[in-house]
Amino acid sequence: MKPAPFAYKKARSVDEALSLMASEPEARLLAGGQTLIASLNMRLSAPPLLIDINGIDGLDRIEASNGSVQIGALVRHAQAERDEAIARAAPLIARALPHVAHPAIRNRGTIGGSIAYADPAAELPACLLALNGEIVARGANGERSIAADDFFKGLFETALAPAEMLTGIRIPEAKGESRFGFAELARRHGDYALVGLAASARAEGKRLRDVRLAFFGVGSTAVRVRKAEAALAESDVEGAVAALDLDPAGDIHATGGVRKHLAGVLLRRVAAQLMEDRR
Ligand code: FAD
Repeated sequence: MKPAPFAYKKARSVDEALSLMASEPEARLLAGGQTLIASLNMRLSAPPLLIDINGIDGLDRIEASNGSVQIGALVRHAQAERDEAIARAAPLIARALPHVAHPAIRNRGTIGGSIAYADPAAELPACLLALNGEIVARGANGERSIAADDFFKGLFETALAPAEMLTGIRIPEAKGESRFGFAELARRHGDYALVGLAASARAEGKRLRDVRLAFFGVGSTAVRVRKAEAALAESDVEGAVAALDLDPAGDIHATGGVRKHLAGVLLRRVAAQLMEDRR
């Protein structure tokens, strides 16, 4: 199918993109286009205006400084996958990225697009939750940071205001005592996950502290499971599995019961990763 007619403008700066967004409330930003163009072609969406942000300088930078890693909205998945600073300072992201779609899609898809789109089965929103990351957004009132815990509001719904643009994300830099875990189950590698889990913790002797477990593919957003986090901090893996407060819906890919069972399987795997320090 072909998309409904739309106007196209290429923004050369964040300010220009914001003013174009303000001029047309139904406009959509075009980043990697890997999701947006398919939804236009299938006529699931028919915005009157596409604002191409690919020509904006400076949004494709990755920088590790002052205890955090900043990743610009236009950093491509493939770029992040190969980046030395991300491998060292944000290894959970490096571990998750090979599970995002396929290489051709990762060559164009952007970190900002994945987070702003907020697919509940996507890897990066869950990683950001697990890492206690922040989303950096710019709008008419300037720049603000939004904690990942407050960002994912509902199905494909985020805390971004209508004329606000995500300009980057910020993640606390990994330290020696940081521990990470990641696992997902998909029917084929590169498909969206049936269920996935991203996790971080801090090792204190043989104990785990500050455990953050973020599941994806189990609800309308990526979601933390706080009772299970508390049980894992007591080294009680089976208690964490029993405390999983998830009620996933079924669909054509798996029933809710299968998803819940798989969540427990993944939790055991990820708990072992956190305890073994596979970083
Ligand atoms: P676009 O398609 O350009 O935009 C997506 C949406 O986000 C649009 O509404 C757009 O307006 C908005 N947007 C984009 N950038 C910004 C911004 N900076 N600020 C505010 N809003 C913005 N993803 C996964 O996570 N896991 C997968 O397993 C996976 N599998 C896939 C398989 C296939 C076959 C395909 C086609 C895609 C798959 N994807 C998967 C999606 C892919 O990762 C996309 O690249 C990603 O979801 C969107 O990134 P994008 O840069 O292409 O965004």
